[in-house]
Amino acid sequence: MKKVNLNVNNEKREYEVGKIVCVGRNYVAHAEELGNEVPAFPLIFLKPPSNLIFNGDVIVHPDYSNEMHHEVELVLLIGKTVKNADDETAKNAIAGYAVGLDMTLRDLQSELKKKGHPWTLAKCFDGAAAVSDFANAGDIDFKGAEKITLKVNNEIRQDSTLDKMIFSPVEIVKYISSKMTLEEGDLIYTGTPKGVNKVERGDKLFAYIENIGKLEVEIK
Ligand code: ZN
Repeated sequence: MKKVNLNVNNEKREYEVGKIVCVGRNYVAHAEELGNEVPAFPLIFLKPPSNLIFNGDVIVHPDYSNEMHHEVELVLLIGKTVKNADDETAKNAIAGYAVGLDMTLRDLQSELKKKGHPWTLAKCFDGAAAVSDFANAGDIDFKGAEKITLKVNNEIRQDSTLDKMIFSPVEIVKYISSKMTLEEGDLIYTGTPKGVNKVERGDKLFAYIENIGKLEVEIK
């Protein structure tokens, strides 16, 4: 079982991670860089909680891919069960914010897309979801326009702001909860800005979101 923590009023609150729901193509410039249309609704896929790793961990590069990409993303921690949420309920369901990496085997994804098959194996492998410590939603003044960056070995690869998201965190929670119940401990990866690129074994990745968190992982 994977667990994440939140500090609320100086007390550590522990959450068992449930499903990891991911949004694809949530930044116009990223949809365009991969030659995809800008979606009218959030594009949704899942990762299993066993894929989750944390700050300081190592991602083992799967040997069946030659093109693992980094995708830096804002991650939401769901703090209460919600179904068919309205704006208010969706907002209150977000217990924490973190920065994460949705690691993607782009060569495999392109192959699967071409065949019309699910992306599952391109998005799900051990280490495919990295996440920083969570900031308590009640303690930070989340503006939705924070800087989001990813450096590989000190070189900036992704550099954007959260207001470039097509669907906001509240809109995403509303949409997902209209299709499936969100439960305490579920995580939502909200999509990546442009600049996704290949990582190599030995690379050090530094992900950062202003006022929210930072995350460092290494590729082996
Ligand atoms: Zn992603």
